[in-house]
Amino acid sequence: MPLRVITTIAEFRRAREDARAAGTLGFVPTMGYLHAGHISLVDRARAENAVVAASIFVNPAQFAPNEDFGAYPRDPERDVALLEAAGCDLVFHPSPEEMYPPPEQDVYVTPGDIAARLEGAARPLFFRGVATVVLKLLNIVQPDRFYFGQKDGQQAAVIRRMAHDLNVPGALVVCPTVREPDGLAMASRNVYLSAEERRAAPVVHRALTAAQQLCHSGEARADRLREAMRDTLQAEPLVASIDYVSVADALTLREIEGAAADGAMASTAVLIGRTRLLDNVILTRPEAGGE
Ligand code: AMP
Repeated sequence: MPLRVITTIAEFRRAREDARAAGTLGFVPTMGYLHAGHISLVDRARAENAVVAASIFVNPAQFAPNEDFGAYPRDPERDVALLEAAGCDLVFHPSPEEMYPPPEQDVYVTPGDIAARLEGAARPLFFRGVATVVLKLLNIVQPDRFYFGQKDGQQAAVIRRMAHDLNVPGALVVCPTVREPDGLAMASRNVYLSAEERRAAPVVHRALTAAQQLCHSGEARADRLREAMRDTLQAEPLVASIDYVSVADALTLREIEGAAADGAMASTAVLIGRTRLLDNVILTRPEAGGE
């Protein structure tokens, strides 16, 4: 069917009902300013469903007052063209007023321990905003499958936990991180990087790769992995600060103290200039036989 861009909840609900007979619906929530990482989610949804919906919504509830809500890059026309080329059927592009009509939102989804660490430590209300808007979108779109990127590993873990704890219908599908050729994880905020900062930015992935290589060479002690990541990051002068380096259980996000098991998540957030870069890898220990 031809791509439809829909801005109201009522109209989206009608389109969703009309699409029901066609088969399963896959849903890709985004904040727009799309890149190949987002499109990989649409491709996966396209491969697995009869109907594909995406949303473009920069969610005010997940930005703190000092963050970049106003400056967050936006280009909905280009986004719609990219979504159309990727074979998306429905685009939900509501205004903030449509998503948060008066009276002021009073009921939120508040994730607990899983959201208190890593990103949540620096941004206390961030995952409350994310979980709330994702549940709102899921209630509007009612997908059979919904697609998130491993790029935002803690976000995927929070959504997984929310879906489990609140009996959200439909299945979460987490898709691999899409990277630039030099390893930098694609992200809408990468446009904030100056040319010099952009050249330095792959250090984030190099730090994660250092942890992965140590694992492969038989050193799985989590403190050693964190140390290797920190050493790599500190060697890059344009890294203005390291927010955290973490080796954590991928489901609970609790820091691992002993040896990292196969499937643990190594992650980091750093400031390069004024741009905060966030990345992770899932550690594999082939020699451990998947222990
Ligand atoms: P955002 O627009 O940043 O909220 O991202 C929308 C979705 O795309 C989220 O599920 C992200 O995890 C996912 N995503 C963003 N960047 C990438 C990437 N480089 N690779 C894979 N998925 C991504």
